[in-house]
Amino acid sequence: MKLVRFMNNRAPSNKRYQPTEYEHAANCATHALWIIPSIVGGILLYLLSDDHWEEISAWLYGAGLSSLFIISTVFHTVSWKKSHLRSVEHCFHKCDRMVIYFFIAASYTPWLTLRDLGPWAAHMRWVVWVMASGGTAYVFFFHERFKVVELICYIAMGVFPALVILSMADRSGLCELLVGGGCYVLGMAFFKSDGIVPFAHAIWHLFVAMGAGIHYYAIWKYLYTPVNQPTSTAR
Ligand SMILES: [Zn+2]
Repeated sequence: MKLVRFMNNRAPSNKRYQPTEYEHAANCATHALWIIPSIVGGILLYLLSDDHWEEISAWLYGAGLSSLFIISTVFHTVSWKKSHLRSVEHCFHKCDRMVIYFFIAASYTPWLTLRDLGPWAAHMRWVVWVMASGGTAYVFFFHERFKVVELICYIAMGVFPALVILSMADRSGLCELLVGGGCYVLGMAFFKSDGIVPFAHAIWHLFVAMGAGIHYYAIWKYLYTPVNQPTSTAR
């Protein structure tokens, strides 16, 4: 069958799926493509900033966005050309997982920082970074040991700050945030489909890029474009 060339067999539960050469190339390309746009996007938000908080948010968000694509591309490149680089690959796999926590925290930061929130909800501005650090520490010590716990951590990190965002008085941008979040959730189906769907991991990458793109658009439009400038006083 022709498909066989594009996809290997599913891996047993204790092993990682081994992508074909084509899949390796697609895994690298689908995230490498977004490195320059994410850096430029971060710089653009920084240039559009009117005050200190907008500048800080632009920095954190731009750094989170570009590191996600950079680390992922490096990891997939190393894992493609591994032969004698097993420990390096393992290290970058850890980094690839850790950066997701920081990416989630960074994606929420502009909303949590630049929008008016209630007195309790406002604490999510720093709680989200504590959660990201906790997730990172977890990956550092228990990487791939308890996959269910890892999944719960990612879901908690994605959902808890969203509850705060839903309670914002100014609800503009909420629709885009939900659609972007939906892209990540849909993509998860492919993340779990290595060996079932050819190029599953690369398709997951594309869903991530789409979700990130929609979220970037919302941040640019509702938080950094002058007409929609937030009137926050209590930051
Ligand atoms: Zn990947």
